[in-house]
Amino acid sequence: MISTIDQLEFPYADAPPPGVVTEVAPGLLWARLPLPFRLNHVNVWLLEEDDGWTVIDTGCATPAIHAAWAQLLAGPMRGKPVVRVIATHGHVDHIGLTGWMVERFDAEFMGTFGEWMWARVSHTRDFSGANETHHRFLVSHGFEEAVAERMVKGRQRFIDLSSALPGAIREIRDGEIVRLGGRDWIVMVTRGHAFEHASFYCPADGILIAGDHLLPKISPVIAVYEMAPKADPLADYLASFPQFDGIPAGTLVLPSHGMPYRGIHQRVAGLRQHHDRRLDATAGFLRRPSNGLDLSKAMFPHIEGPENIGFALGETLAHVNYLVHQGIVDEARDAAGRNVYVTRG
Ligand SMILES: [Zn+2]
Repeated sequence: MISTIDQLEFPYADAPPPGVVTEVAPGLLWARLPLPFRLNHVNVWLLEEDDGWTVIDTGCATPAIHAAWAQLLAGPMRGKPVVRVIATHGHVDHIGLTGWMVERFDAEFMGTFGEWMWARVSHTRDFSGANETHHRFLVSHGFEEAVAERMVKGRQRFIDLSSALPGAIREIRDGEIVRLGGRDWIVMVTRGHAFEHASFYCPADGILIAGDHLLPKISPVIAVYEMAPKADPLADYLASFPQFDGIPAGTLVLPSHGMPYRGIHQRVAGLRQHHDRRLDATAGFLRRPSNGLDLSKAMFPHIEGPENIGFALGETLAHVNYLVHQGIVDEARDAAGRNVYVTRG
């Protein structure tokens, strides 16, 4: 992976430990929650209102995160209620405890309609047809039946990390201005990492709450999933970058994973370069025809375990579908009906 990390400026040497906050601007607090994945934490943002707090992202349903929230609510949040809960997007480490928090405080839930809907479908056990579609998708990309079955079951683990999602939403859309914590924020909706990911930009104070869209150190997962197997999320992701062109270089970017940073334009350039190189490597490997599974192993040689190979497949297919849409790679089916890809010419 290309790191542009040395071109970025990190104003904070340390992240707050669980239950503790760092004030990044007056009335805007940064808290960090521990995650039960290799991605070991998620940053959340607490914005002080006259009558309580707006919380942006909540983490997922684990005892450690519940304990961190108990500490935050009693400590830095001074026992004041949560009046609004926002999810930047529907992934479980962001939206997982939203329903619990909304219910506990009778708070308003705010987010994009697409992410809320996606989460309600994805984080519901035995949603009609979901497991069959996932299984067929894995087999079509070269996984053996028994492995595919294990992987489909394995994903249930993520479903258990979400509390029941809020039943109603205050929908936000791209370009809308929302007043949160005494500041006006422009909602920026982007695709690529998620279907309708929301970032929040405050021009007056030069702050961008960026969710997972522009992480400082790792490239956000850009993946094809079984719900939309022919989608081109990488094209969507790359197409989102010009939306950030007009944001001043000195803007403080608050990402969901990693440290707050300045240097948004260097970071965007670095992410673009990363994907360009991955596209070149993908087209190179596909000079010899390959299915998705074999290509994923070639693209991610160090990956192990069915769960991780599932992520690798999604990410690999994002690059493959981009090349297919560009007319650089052809897609065909082998005798067993599995997808096979090959670079043209
Ligand atoms: Zn995410």
